[in-house]
Amino acid sequence: MASVGPKQKLSKARTGKRRSANLKIESSSVNVCKNCGEVKRAHFACPKCGTYDEKRSVKVKTNENKESK
Ligand SMILES: [Zn+2]
Repeated sequence: MASVGPKQKLSKARTGKRRSANLKIESSSVNVCKNCGEVKRAHFACPKCGTYDEKRSVKVKTNENKESK
């Protein structure tokens, strides 16, 4: 008789711990905008006000002001 597979099913707590550990890594790359307080991704410009750093900022694309290439 072949014994393949997990002997015991992982408990919800154990699965949740593993998943939360991965989520923590992902959430570590998220910052709060210093300008408007919006949650934004690290190393990315704020989607709301366009602030990337305290000194540097990016223009936010709006429907009114479309840039033509
Ligand atoms: Zn902002």
